[in-house]
Amino acid sequence: MKKLLVASLLVTSALAHANDIQLSRGIKSDLRDKIERDMNILDNFKFSSNTEARTLAIMGVSTLNAQTAGDWLNTRVNYVIEENALSTLKLLLKKTIQVEREGVSFPNAGILPYSLDPQNNASTLFDAKNNEDGVVVMSNIGSGLYMAGKNDGKVYALKVSRGLLKKATKVVVESPRAGIIQIGEGLFMKEITVNNDNPNSIANSINRLGTFFHEAKHSDGNGSSLGFAHSKCPTGHDLAGAYACDENENGPYSIGAAMTKEMLKSCDDTCTPREKEILKVIILDSESRVMHTTRRGSPATDWDSTPEKL
Ligand SMILES: [Zn+2]
Repeated sequence: MKKLLVASLLVTSALAHANDIQLSRGIKSDLRDKIERDMNILDNFKFSSNTEARTLAIMGVSTLNAQTAGDWLNTRVNYVIEENALSTLKLLLKKTIQVEREGVSFPNAGILPYSLDPQNNASTLFDAKNNEDGVVVMSNIGSGLYMAGKNDGKVYALKVSRGLLKKATKVVVESPRAGIIQIGEGLFMKEITVNNDNPNSIANSINRLGTFFHEAKHSDGNGSSLGFAHSKCPTGHDLAGAYACDENENGPYSIGAAMTKEMLKSCDDTCTPREKEILKVIILDSESRVMHTTRRGSPATDWDSTPEKL
């Protein structure tokens, strides 16, 4: 009996892999295949066993392997939607975003995300992971919709396409953990892949998966840490004035850098020297966006990751 129970537990946990993420049928099928391929690579990833203690700490896991990394992602990413999902046409014709409930009181009302200046408008709440040229790679729309809803006292719902003749999945956004990630034009853009001569190289997948981990972190937080929203980079920084820096030690840029670093460790034989160098530059870029001293002059800390929910 005991053995059976263990076996069934194993089956259950084995089912919770990164491929449980629902990809909108609105994503072109070739792109969908590529995203599924990346998820499969993560599901079978052989992480090196000498994980940095800091990675384990900020990920909140005791060991890092394909299972724990996949579970971590799965907890924070449930849907991936197409780049144009929120186009005016789709908003009007397909009512992609609906108001589910109005006049709702949200927890931690009146507590603004730490990084927000009072004069900011809600549009800056929608994080977008951009590359330097401002090309959107991915954004966490679920977290953005939760924040916008909190701002408006409304619960929003978003429809995720399941294909032409099927009823769309309605995702009611009652937490930043709704886990809706929107892909951007940059995700598979040749110019910004690690190796554009070999689109199927593992290094390209590692880079995209690092971005997935970054975006997933935006599904965490409550009150002032809600969504782990980015702050304006300080004067003197390459990205001064852009909302592309973190004022904490465990936010999206720290997670993205740490996970890319862990995956790079396992790529010694499979990645070319050039690919490894480029991945290192990407890691350094993310790390340079972590402000160890906040704009208010205090040392940056680990923010509370507990997700807010209605
Ligand atoms: Zn971000």
